[in-house]
Amino acid sequence: MTLQESFNSIKKSLPPHVTLAAVSKTHPAEKVAELYSLGQRIFAENKAQELAEKQALLPRDIEWHLIGHLQTNKVKMIIPFIHTIQSVDSERLLKEIDRVAAAHSRTVEVYLQIKIAEEETKSGLSSEAAELLFRQWVCGDFPNVVVTGLMGMATFTGDEDQLQREFSSLKALYDRLSAIHPLKHLSMGMSGDYLTAVDCGANLVRVGSAIFGQR
Ligand SMILES: *Cc1c(COP(=O)(O)O)cnc(C)c1O
Repeated sequence: MTLQESFNSIKKSLPPHVTLAAVSKTHPAEKVAELYSLGQRIFAENKAQELAEKQALLPRDIEWHLIGHLQTNKVKMIIPFIHTIQSVDSERLLKEIDRVAAAHSRTVEVYLQIKIAEEETKSGLSSEAAELLFRQWVCGDFPNVVVTGLMGMATFTGDEDQLQREFSSLKALYDRLSAIHPLKHLSMGMSGDYLTAVDCGANLVRVGSAIFGQR
């Protein structure tokens, strides 16, 4: 399949209310440019360094998202241009994003990353910690960030019941926090599980290998 064919088939499989973030990690800027020329505008990377390098080579109207763990000392590398940091997994990181964003006189969109996988390896905040952080933000802390969504990664499994359990737990938290203050984005689902994620309420999916091929 060509890039165009795989891109079109992914898009066709998504209901209109679901946003596609194309995960371009490990793929060269030329591939991003090719997908850009087909109309895609939201791209996601999991490393600050790689993101900064590609951003410098590519059109300015790309909406860049960070989806991987971000060390506080790398925040300044991406703040000048980043649109959304989906992987906020600690108060310390949120504080640093807010501080650097203020220094650049801008506000940055963030999602709180929630640990939903039953397996022990995936990072993220607990629901309780996320709610606490969210309430602090609603009350006026971290004025240079806007919390617009939640992000979660399910266990790497073909067990549909387990995937549904994990995704549904995040959807429940999303609904609970949205009642405190409106959220817009529920980011869950990757190449292997995005259709299940959409069934469970995702309105943004992060798809890499199903578009670009294996890494
Ligand atoms: C790599 C990655 C994806 C995309 O994974 P694919 O299986 O290639 O679609 C999605 N989300 C996160 C957080 C990732 O690191």
